[in-house]
Parts: sequence; C-alpha cells; structure tokens
Amino acid sequence: MLLKDKKALVTGSSRGIGKAIVEAFIKNGAEVWGLCSKPSAAKEDLEKLASENGVAFHEIYADVGNAEQVTEVVKAALAEAGTFDVLVNNAGITRDGLSFRMKKDDWDDVLRVNLTSVFLISQIVSSNMIRAKDKSCSIINMASIVGLHGQGGQVNYAASKGGIIAYSKALAKEVGSRGVRVNAIAPGFIETDMTAVLKDDMKAQWVEGLPLKRAGKPEDIANAALFLASDLSTYITGQVIGVDGGMGC
Ligand code: NAP
Repeated sequence: MLLKDKKALVTGSSRGIGKAIVEAFIKNGAEVWGLCSKPSAAKEDLEKLASENGVAFHEIYADVGNAEQVTEVVKAALAEAGTFDVLVNNAGITRDGLSFRMKKDDWDDVLRVNLTSVFLISQIVSSNMIRAKDKSCSIINMASIVGLHGQGGQVNYAASKGGIIAYSKALAKEVGSRGVRVNAIAPGFIETDMTAVLKDDMKAQWVEGLPLKRAGKPEDIANAALFLASDLSTYITGQVIGVDGGMGC
C-alpha cells in the first residue's frame, strides 16, 4: 500500500501505459482521477478494481490539447479532490512523418497535446500542491527515449518529449523547496496501441538490439511511476528515469 490515502490525477488513463498506472495506483491505495478524451472501455473494470481495494476511481473527460476545456475539467477535478498528491501527465499522441514533408498542423497538434497540456495541467495542480504545506507531492511527466536521443520521422514527437524533459527539470527547481518533486519517465519500446501500428519486422529488429531482449509492457512503466509517486523516492527530483530494456544505455 505505497499510496495509501493519496489522491492522484492521471492523464491518458483509458489505455496502455496510463491504464496500467491507474491500476498500480489503485492497488496501492490511491483514489484516482483518470482523464481521457471520451468514455473508455476500461472505466467499468477500473471502478470495480477501485471498489475491491476500498478506494474510488473517477473517469473525467477533456481534450488535453484544448486549453480552455482541459483547464475547466482539471479545475473541477481539483475542486472535487481538494488536493492531488500525485499528478501523472501521460496523455500523448504521434503524427509521424519526415520533417521536410510534415504539415504544420501535425507539428502543432503533437506539441499542443504532448507538451502544452503538461504546462497547463501542472500549473493548476502544482499551485494547489505548494499550498498544501505539510505534504510531499509528486509530478511525473511521461517523456520518451526519443526525447533524449531523437528519432527520424518524429521531429514533432521528439521535440515534445525533449521539451517535457527540460520542462520537468526547470519545474523541479521552482517547486522543490515547496515540497513538490518533478520527474520524467523515458520509456523505450512499450507494447500499446501507440506502437501496434509499427511494422512487425521493425519491432523485431528493435527487440533484438535490446540488452534485455524483450519489448516493454505498460506494467514496466507503471512500476516506475509507482516508485516516483511514493515516499520511496522522496529524495529524487529533476530526474529522467529510463525504462527501456537498455535501449538508451
Ligand atoms: P496509447 O495507448 O496510444 O494511449 C494514449 C492515451 O492518451 C489514451 O488514454 C488517450 O485517451 C490519451 N490521449 C491522447 N490524446 C488525448 C487528448 N487529446 N486528450 C485526452 N487524452 C488523450 O499510448 P501509450 O503507448 O500508452 O503512451 C502513453 C504515453 O507514453 C504517451 O505520452 C507516449 O508518448 C509515451 N510513450 C509511449 C511509448 C510506447 O512505446 N508506447 C514510448 C515512449 C513514450 P483516449 O483513449 O480517450 O484517446
């Protein structure tokens, strides 16, 4: 029960990595607000899991790329929760293409959904966190190995994830003395809907090149998020934790 009596907001909670994080948080005693763009197939199962663990799960909806909408929805969730001990900015998209052919809309959409949303949501939630003086709070931002090393065909995505890393380090310096830790996770290749569209031979080649010789699972990322959310990591801030099977080593 690493998160007993804690309240968490997790974006991108409907599927993949976000859903696994919600499950791990609930199993460890947290009440969770999961934000996604529309009612999800996971909602019922997550509510059931929460009730089995004596906590509540609340699914809420906003397009994180829509500043007005996400601001309104996050403020309403915060008013309901009172305060969040943990924020996980996990929602993300790809709009891949070579740089010289990339449409400006594909650049803008990825930056808005992946990066600007992190600024907007963290601004609301961290303002509240720093007022809760006796608490130790944690913000976890989902970056990517691509934000550290780059990837051809993903300049928009790489820029958004590199931006998340720089943003996390800067925010960690602003709010550390007020009891808020800010860290990023940089996943490698994780089996979710996002990577299901990739060609099988490309995936096999990546896995073959990994020291650990397997693709990551959403639970691998959820375990790192659980550690960063919990009091096991109270002396860790401004860091990027690679969870990538050794891809980045
Ligand atoms: P996924 O399976 O495609 O799920 C994406 C999640 O983000 C869904 O819950 C989706 O909600 C939500 N989302 C997307 N756009 C949204 C929007 N405009 N407003 C609200 N919610 C939105 O992705 P994933 O693989 O789990 O990835 C999660 C995070 O990890 C992303 O930030 C991704 O960049 C990062 N990451 C993934 C990998 C990987 O290999 N999978 C590697 C490195 C980093 P709906 O269901 O409502 O659309």
